[in-house]
Amino acid sequence: MMKCYDCMEMGKDSTAICVCISCGKGLCMDHTKQLEIPVTVGTPPDLKRLPNSLPRLVCNYCLNQIIEDGFD
Ligand SMILES: [Zn+2]
Ligand SMILES: [Zn+2]
Repeated sequence: MMKCYDCMEMGKDSTAICVCISCGKGLCMDHTKQLEIPVTVGTPPDLKRLPNSLPRLVCNYCLNQIIEDGFD
């Protein structure tokens, strides 16, 4: 069974309930961050933004990385 990587680093032992879509490490409920990614379809200049963004599960670390990369 997969363990939460972030808990493991803090000396805790939690079962992972999902994996980070970005780095692939196991995460427990407490360490899972939901990232709303706007979805665009089509090719330029006919880009369309879908009304519903896709919820993605990422770890804290990757969430920060994505935000620093200029994600808005
Ligand atoms: Zn955890
Ligand atoms: Zn990650």
